[in-house]
Amino acid sequence: MADMKLPSRTEDFSEWYNQLVVRAELADYAPVRGCMIVRPYGWAMWENVTAQLDRRFKATGHVNAAFPMLIPQSFISKEQSHVAGFSPELAVVTHGGGEKLEEPLVIRPTSETIIGWAYAKWIQSYRDLPVLINQWNSVVRWELRTKLFLRTLEFFWQEGHTAHATFEEAEAETRQMLDIYTDFAVNEAAIPVIPGKKSPSERFAGADATYSIEAMMGDGKALQSGTSHNLGQNFAKAFEIKYLDKEGALQHCWTTSWGLSTRFIGAIIMVHGDDQGLILPPRLAPYQVVIVPIFKTDEEKALVFETAKKIKEQLVKADVRVKVDEREGQSPGFKFNDWEMRGVPLRMEIGPKDVAKGSVVLARRDKPGKEGKTFVSQEGVVASVQETLVTIQQALFDRALEFRNAHTFEPKNLQEFGDVVEKGFARSRWCGESSCEDRIKETTKATLRCIPMEQPGGTGACIFCGKDSNEVAIFGKAY
Ligand SMILES: [Zn+2]
Repeated sequence: MADMKLPSRTEDFSEWYNQLVVRAELADYAPVRGCMIVRPYGWAMWENVTAQLDRRFKATGHVNAAFPMLIPQSFISKEQSHVAGFSPELAVVTHGGGEKLEEPLVIRPTSETIIGWAYAKWIQSYRDLPVLINQWNSVVRWELRTKLFLRTLEFFWQEGHTAHATFEEAEAETRQMLDIYTDFAVNEAAIPVIPGKKSPSERFAGADATYSIEAMMGDGKALQSGTSHNLGQNFAKAFEIKYLDKEGALQHCWTTSWGLSTRFIGAIIMVHGDDQGLILPPRLAPYQVVIVPIFKTDEEKALVFETAKKIKEQLVKADVRVKVDEREGQSPGFKFNDWEMRGVPLRMEIGPKDVAKGSVVLARRDKPGKEGKTFVSQEGVVASVQETLVTIQQALFDRALEFRNAHTFEPKNLQEFGDVVEKGFARSRWCGESSCEDRIKETTKATLRCIPMEQPGGTGACIFCGKDSNEVAIFGKAY
């Protein structure tokens, strides 16, 4: 399998992705259409994602909890735009224990409603605020067009839900979480993202404001990679989440929710991968280094394995995630291709000559061939590995940013706009009217991805209607 070439990204990006996910053993198809089996290698990546996010959530005062997967159907109808947004995607349980249920239960598509119900019980006074809870779980949305990691019936994620005394506090929380997602994407996943605000038509069902981080994939399309919502008092009013303020008056709370899902694994694959396979950012890679022993005779094998074992122990002590490929009956060439496909950032080759010379070969995944190869001494190999991993992490970010810059355009008119969104992002003025946004979508299939937090200032003409506009938006075709 490892010797079979993948379709090239330029020829068929979608098929490249589909084959790569399965062949790199990240995920597999399930017996139920649209569901996904996350295989150990893919799950190890997700575990690294969760660890880095969870650390950031806890450092900003959040705690984890677990709420039920089954929600009374009536809960979903309590918030009007929420029910309108989610009804078509609900999976409903009508029978339990062999009997028809009095009230059907929905499998959570997201947990605002059931958490709102609990918060109404728990919150009495301003002293109980803020409530800052996150949960790691899976949710079900009955999607029609599915693709592994990017859109599946059941997906894994975290959903944060907070309650506050004022609008300002809720808005600050919403923005803080957007910053945390941005920091995570940039510094752990080496993915440059654009943090921004969604237009009203792209808001979460039931939110007053939705913010997102948007990333450019290797085919120039956008992927919404994390969202943070200011829910205003919509859910607080629907679920009676109230508190007594300092003056003894009863007030509705202000709530937020925010989430990042296994979709993000799709972003890592599509931003960094090449025609040979995955290229994983060292900080999230399940294995940062793979050691491939090279030998012909049993004597050489004993010698090489002894050195490999010694180096592995040193790397483990230094918290480097390392694997020695001890598979029997596979040639080194086969193993090189296999780990290349699976995107391990750094390969270490150890042969009898290396043992004799007290050196090893390091080969970077992001720089194929001779250019990425170095000989380093076994003394100080840990430092060499650590430095190289830092270099690779930065190189991946730089390359992704360069690609995004090269594929971001400022079209002068609608004609040009239509051309550039076939290749990447359009940065264009938008007047704020949803009619312009809708017509752009109809004529070009590009959607308004976000209104970036960083704005150039000044005014200019809306790309569609020509009216004066003081905001620039990012448009693109999206997953
Ligand atoms: Zn307009």
